[in-house]
Amino acid sequence: MHIKIPQVAVPDFWLGNLGKVESYLRRRLVKGQRSSFGASTFGYDLHVVEYPNEGAVKLMVIGGTHGHEPTGVASVMNLIHLLETGVDLDGRPHDRLLELAQSLHLYLVPCLNPDGRSVCPDSFYCGGIDTCVAFASGIQLDGDLVPYDADSEQPCYYFDPAEAIFVGGQFNGAGWAMNRRLSDDHSEAVEVEALLELCRGLGLHAILDLHACGYNFAFQARSHEPPYWPIMREWQSRAEALFGAKGRQLGKLNGDGDPPTPPDFFFNSALLHKHAELMWVTYEGRQGYIGRSSFMPLPTEWEIIDDYLTAIQVYLELGFEEHYARANAEVFG
Ligand SMILES: [Zn+2]
Repeated sequence: MHIKIPQVAVPDFWLGNLGKVESYLRRRLVKGQRSSFGASTFGYDLHVVEYPNEGAVKLMVIGGTHGHEPTGVASVMNLIHLLETGVDLDGRPHDRLLELAQSLHLYLVPCLNPDGRSVCPDSFYCGGIDTCVAFASGIQLDGDLVPYDADSEQPCYYFDPAEAIFVGGQFNGAGWAMNRRLSDDHSEAVEVEALLELCRGLGLHAILDLHACGYNFAFQARSHEPPYWPIMREWQSRAEALFGAKGRQLGKLNGDGDPPTPPDFFFNSALLHKHAELMWVTYEGRQGYIGRSSFMPLPTEWEIIDDYLTAIQVYLELGFEEHYARANAEVFG
């Protein structure tokens, strides 16, 4: 059986469609240097766009770890377009973000999981969350959801694609969960392993990983050592001021506490932190769901992207001030 993926009309600045991202990266870059650091299970190139800056702090931003989260991809593409042209894909300036981006040595990965992106619609804006869950999880041969978030003791790390009409955006094409790891020593997902190989020895101070749900919030660096915890509290403080000035909501720092509760299992954050000796920052932006009072007021599509760019701005600012470098030195020597 073949499932038809609904085609959703999106604004030009909502650049999360795999083919259109690929086309942009291959044809429109002038300043950025694109290269492939591997291939997905389905054979899609994994792209990184580098903006070199001799002697500057090296930071990375990643979108599209989860295929049902197109806003992260679109946000990295807006950052790329800002660096290329001085305005975002809607033609709007972001002076402070651009100033910071040009002061750093950036590595931008628009889509870490092209397989997952390829089986999901380009937007869930004004859709119900249940629709997104179907594409996030995937559909078994009998028509039921793949039990990604079943109430089990152990999360679903793997689902055999042969047992599914398709595995959803949480997985790569081989059926491996993209952001849950059995160990912090290697990844079963070839895309994450390729990312680790790219980052090992690169001298990155930090990676910002963009995800999407119904709300805006960042995660405490719970899988990291104590020197990293105040950095996320500083991120929160600065982000709250910026979001507040725009009249937007920002959730509290997820998982913070004294001390923060460590995660129950390994994420990519633990793997990359340990082996590439860097700080991992995770931010969840919005999808624009409807159907719950807590999703209101409904943001515009541009506000969703602008929230991500605001989150990226604070992340870059802390990197420029070498907060990540100091914590890395304290932990790794
Ligand atoms: Zn996600």
